Amino acid sequence: MSKRDYYEILGVERSSDEKEIKKAYRRIAMKNHPDRNPDDPKAEDIFKEATEAYEVLTDKEKRAAYDRFGHEGVGAGAGGFGGGGGAGFSDIFGDVFGDIFGGGGGQRQRGPQPGADLRYTLEIDLEQAVKGTTAKIRIPTLVACNTCDGSGAKKGSSPTTCSTCNGVGQVRMQQGFFAVQQTCPACRGNGKIISDPCGDCRGQGRIEETKTLSVKVPPGVDTGDRIRLSGEGEASPNGGPAGDLYVQMSVKPHPIFQRDGKHLYCEVPISFTDAALGGELDVPTLDGRVKLKIPAETQTGKSFRLRGKGITPVRGGTTGDLICKTVVETPVKLNKRQKELLEELQVSLGGSDEHAPRKKGWFEGVKTFFDDMKL
Ligand SMILES: [Zn+2]
Ligand SMILES: [Zn+2]
Repeated sequence: MSKRDYYEILGVERSSDEKEIKKAYRRIAMKNHPDRNPDDPKAEDIFKEATEAYEVLTDKEKRAAYDRFGHEGVGAGAGGFGGGGGAGFSDIFGDVFGDIFGGGGGQRQRGPQPGADLRYTLEIDLEQAVKGTTAKIRIPTLVACNTCDGSGAKKGSSPTTCSTCNGVGQVRMQQGFFAVQQTCPACRGNGKIISDPCGDCRGQGRIEETKTLSVKVPPGVDTGDRIRLSGEGEASPNGGPAGDLYVQMSVKPHPIFQRDGKHLYCEVPISFTDAALGGELDVPTLDGRVKLKIPAETQTGKSFRLRGKGITPVRGGTTGDLICKTVVETPVKLNKRQKELLEELQVSLGGSDEHAPRKKGWFEGVKTFFDDMKL
């Protein structure tokens, strides 16, 4: 799939300033945010595309790289991170509105800026979530170029301060009555000029690399929990600290157990003779099995609570319970003798509702219903 031009996606001119870009993005994002269009994958695609464009075009470094090198320049298109979870509605709009309506936002602070934060969605099994695990992940990121130590200048040379903007990255232009700040055209906002760029990173100071990291997942995590790996985000474009990596946990559905917070739920089939006479069941737990005593006259759907057999929450607190719901099974593949026995039982039980409490209750309910409808 070829990627569309970021300016085209947002419907803005190449000369647009940050404010115009934000405005364009806000309009698209408001309309297409997945929270507002839960069942429309097309809206989600539009939203993701616009978010990516917005993230690049509002970042001076990334925008400059994009202007010069296109999608290649910003390492876009690599899967596995970003996009997936995405920022929540309030995250994005807090940011966008804050910048638009907040006092004088958008001014680039001087000095080294930190590298961008990264997001990664890590899928784990329920067992791993409960017991904790160490996961190896591979993420495409930007690391400082070894050849030039991140400066972007060829070995032996160094970047010089831009003389047009004196290293500020912005110049003041008089437009009628107003003086407006504009990105310095000479250095494209970098504040530095690299006359002899490093060949390995094409003067960017950073190169794309797929990093392998090991993530320690503490026991008890649940879907939606985030693990922050400080300094494992992208390298700074200009000698500042690296960004952080946020690992978003996603726990896969389990074939036997359903999880609700710290409690686990499961269904346990029981034979109808055990249900009637009482018995002992083997119940699966996350670390093996336990025996569960079933009293006589257990009805289908009856739940039994095994205290402390659930999950110990990651933030501490008491361990949850395992709640087993019994499902009485109708016997199948009966031989002649077994059928005879059941027929005998049937005769013995007779038509009486005395042995069928639920049926009795049900018929009474139906009778009341018809009486109420005057039928
Ligand atoms: Zn380099
Ligand atoms: Zn400049």
